[in-house]
Order: sequence, then structure tokens, then C-alpha cells
Amino acid sequence: MDDRIYFDHAATTPLDPRVRAAMEPFESCAFGNPSSLHREGRIARDAVETARAQVADLIGSSPDEITFTASGTEADNLAVLGLVASGAKARVVASAIEHPAVLKPLRHLADSGVEVDLLPPDEEGIIRPGVLLEALRRPASLISVMAANNVTGVLQPVAELAAVAKERGALFHTDAVQAAGKVPLDVNRMHVDMLALSAHKLHGPKGVGALFVRAGVRLRPVILGGGQERGLRSATENVAGIVGMGEAAAIAKREMAAEASRLVGLRDRLLDGIRAAVPNAYLIGHSYRRLPGHLCLGFAGQEGEAIRLLLALDEAGAAVSSGSACSADHAGEPSYILRAMGFDPIRARGSLRLTLGRFSTECEVDRFLEILPQAVSALRPVATHAAFGVRL
Ligand code: PLP
Repeated sequence: MDDRIYFDHAATTPLDPRVRAAMEPFESCAFGNPSSLHREGRIARDAVETARAQVADLIGSSPDEITFTASGTEADNLAVLGLVASGAKARVVASAIEHPAVLKPLRHLADSGVEVDLLPPDEEGIIRPGVLLEALRRPASLISVMAANNVTGVLQPVAELAAVAKERGALFHTDAVQAAGKVPLDVNRMHVDMLALSAHKLHGPKGVGALFVRAGVRLRPVILGGGQERGLRSATENVAGIVGMGEAAAIAKREMAAEASRLVGLRDRLLDGIRAAVPNAYLIGHSYRRLPGHLCLGFAGQEGEAIRLLLALDEAGAAVSSGSACSADHAGEPSYILRAMGFDPIRARGSLRLTLGRFSTECEVDRFLEILPQAVSALRPVATHAAFGVRL
């Protein structure tokens, strides 16, 4: 796999060797249950609490406000379902471009009679505070807008949106699964009440997530049992995974500033190279309010070819993603995110997502640019119709 180029870090990231080293003892000799009173248990408990402090430090919260879960999906479910179940008056307003980890529980709530309204983004993929203000002419109990979109990479104005929510007496949840570890996040400056994280998007292990719940916000647990995580999320803790998440958070915090500017440099090099090689390519989403290593591209007149391009690149040694799908089952279907941004169904089908990460190099970018023209030449000819979005 060594010569493969991996540009799909928004899907998942490779485990950082430093994270692997931190986890290793908890996968072998330090196997205790954090709820046990003996020494083995206390060692595990200390490790979990150290990780809780590391995750809290990444987002400027208190450790007591962090609940570990088994994924970003579970953290989002707990935020949305837990709040509504806790008896808060039920009207939820969310962005139409949320990940299914938020949208699916919302659909479930809507089916059981909760009023759910979705906010459209503008054509650059941004949820404007004015749109939320308009929606809050009627009261709502919960607002949910993600910090960064998983398809476009566009950063949302969460602090402004949450300030609007606060002014209108609504609680605010943000899904920060894509943003965490890549851009600075501070729950107090952002005025958010809940924030979801996932370890595997920041070079930590898969199957671990966390939810920040501001002190004083009452949630009803979704998973019931032995009462771990202060009763909010029962189940014996995944100690090694949690330790890995803590270490991944600490590394991301320490290295974020330098890493973000390195990734912006690589991303721009990639963008310039693609512009030279593929003149009908256009950037989807806001040109600079985006995650440092994230590009989402359309190909004017060749929208039906995105999957073919993805497969040709895969064959040539580069892993990239179709912007339309959250799962392989839906590859090639129009993206509901691009549809919400105003793309017609054909254009909404044809995007490619290239996402760089900690181990991406200039050499990989240059190799990608060498194989790209050959992959593009395998596509059907360009049909003539106008491009949409920001031309590169
Ligand atoms: N939210 C966003 C924005 C995501 O991109 C993802 C994963 O792709 C999730 C939630 C789900 O996280 P997990 O894979 O940890 O369940």
C-alpha cells in the first residue's frame, strides 16, 4: 500500500503512530475495568480521566462536560434524541446539510410528532445567520448546525448562529466531527451547548467519539445500563480507544497551527495543478471559508463522470471520494448537500472530494497531478453547458 496516494481523510484518517503507542498498554497489560476498585481498575480510570481532560482541552471545555461514546454518530444521536427526550419543548431547527448522524434522528423525531425545520445554505454552502433568525420567529428548543461540512469542507459561522439561538432561548448543538483538530474550536467563544467529536477523523482510532454537554444542560441517555459516564452513556468504557482519542486530541491541539498552514499550502498546490490539467473543473463551496486540507470539485459538462474518474484514479493509485455519498451504497446519487446549495440533480451527482491529512506530502500532490490527466482522458467528452460554482 506504500505507493498509494490517500486523499480521503474526511472519510477516515490513518492512526498516528504516537496514538498507537499510547493505546498499546491498554490493549495488553493494562486491561482493567475503570469501574473496578482494585489497582487494575484505578489505572484504567486514571487513563480515561486523563483522556477526558485532553479532549476537553481541545475544545476549551471542562473535563466534566465530556461524555465518551462509541462514535461521532452516537454523540450526535445523544445530543438530538437526548435533549428532546428530556422534555424540552419540541421544535428543532437544523441545517439541511447536516450529516445523516443528525438528520436521521431528526427524521425519527419528526415521525413521532416533533416539529423539525431545515435551513437551506446559500450557494457557497454557508448557513447565514439571517436564515436562522427568520426561522426563529417561532420558538425552538434546539438548533443544530455543523461546524464544517463533510462534503464541501465549508466552515459554518457557528459562533454567530449560536448567538442568535441563545438570544431566542434555544439550545445549540454543533457536529464538529470534521472540524475538530483541524481548526480552533472553543465551546465558550462559540456559545454552543453541545458539540460532537469523533476520534478517527483526527488520526485517532475508529469506534470512539465524545459529546460535550454544557454543565446545566439536561439530557436523557439513549443507552441505558450500568450507569457509566455519569449515567449518560452506559457500557464498559473502551479504555484503549478513549486513551487514543485523548492522545489524538492532544497532538492535534499542539500541532494545529503549523499543520493547518502546511495543509493550506498543499491544498492550493493541488488546486492550481488541477486547474492546469482539467480546465472544466470548478471548486464547490466557499473559496476560503473551508477546512485547510479539503477540496470539493465539480467538472462542468462531465458531471456523470465523477464516479468513473474516482475509479480511474483508484486504478492509477489514488484514493479519493465522490462528494455525493456518505456510503458506497449511494455513490452516484445526487448529493442532498449540493441539492440544498441549489445544484440541479445532474450537477449534484458529479463531484469529487479530495481531502489531505497529517501524512500527506508535496511529493504525493505532485504524483497525483501526474496521474490525473491520464485518468481524465478516460472520461467522456465535455458536454457544453455553463459551469456552476466558483471557477478555479
Ligand atoms: N458527522 C460528520 C460531519 C461526519 O463527517 C461523520 C463521519 O463521516 C459523522 C458525523 C459520523 O462519525 P462516526 O464515523 O464516528 O460515526
